[in-house]
Amino acid sequence: MTAYMDHKDLANETIDATRAKEIADGVHGVLDRIARAESAAGRAPGSVKLLAATKTRDVGEIMAAIDAGVRLIGENRPQEVAVKAAGLRRQCAERGFALGVDDPDGGDGALALGEQDTSHAVERIPFHLIGQLQSNKIGKVLPVVNTIESVDSIELAEKIARRAAMHGITVGVLLEVNESGEASKSGCDPAHAIMLAQRIGTLDGLELQGLMTIGAHVDDERTIRRGFAHLRKTRDQILDAGAPGTEHCTELSMGMTHDMELAIEEGSTIVRVGTAIFGERAFI
Ligand SMILES: *Cc1c(COP(=O)(O)O)cnc(C)c1O
Repeated sequence: MTAYMDHKDLANETIDATRAKEIADGVHGVLDRIARAESAAGRAPGSVKLLAATKTRDVGEIMAAIDAGVRLIGENRPQEVAVKAAGLRRQCAERGFALGVDDPDGGDGALALGEQDTSHAVERIPFHLIGQLQSNKIGKVLPVVNTIESVDSIELAEKIARRAAMHGITVGVLLEVNESGEASKSGCDPAHAIMLAQRIGTLDGLELQGLMTIGAHVDDERTIRRGFAHLRKTRDQILDAGAPGTEHCTELSMGMTHDMELAIEEGSTIVRVGTAIFGERAFI
């Protein structure tokens, strides 16, 4: 259990109007930044998705972001996924959205895990895991998340694939690449990314959807940009090589509060933003 979880009730669903307005302003500000960056880079409007990075935020805060237009959320820690999932699902259902993977044992008429909803078009808000995943927590996140963005080894990929096969589902994965080489960061060695992507592509139960990286923690723009550009080049090489199971490897999850404009210029398709939506985090 992480310490801040003792200090904040992450399942809380009620926030005051001032806080909701603050979050709505944050979402609108970020959507404006994305639109301006798409246009400056000559990219089509809507080509970059906003993922709200919701670590340390409670259900009420996350719903305020969804009410303001967020349509994709990402959590770092399996414990937080577990604490918030039921409240988020219920609140989303009240607004006519389906959240993440349909609850396998939800008594709410939800579909069984992995079952396709062909009856009517309910808008789904996909749920991603964006933080490190220890293999003993895979079972905690699979019933909720559509995509795991933080797969950085073949061992982890194989374990997720085995679990997914047990449930009879397919899980989306992004291969996380440590483009900055910073020791504090997770992610595979960029030199191994293409080989790893091709091996992940062969695993049943996984759909390789793209690549993810965290920008270099430096002030120098050129250094940050170089990492993003290299991730894009790696993605293009994977697609060009055309190995089996890599044909959906299109997403580039890169760019956060401080570097999203650079990432969008370098081809990002998903920016993961926390601080610019919700404000500074009171807990790590
Ligand atoms: C927290 C986090 C983000 C968002 O960071 P901000 O600087 O708050 O926008 C993005 N990606 C990952 C993996 C994170 O942990």
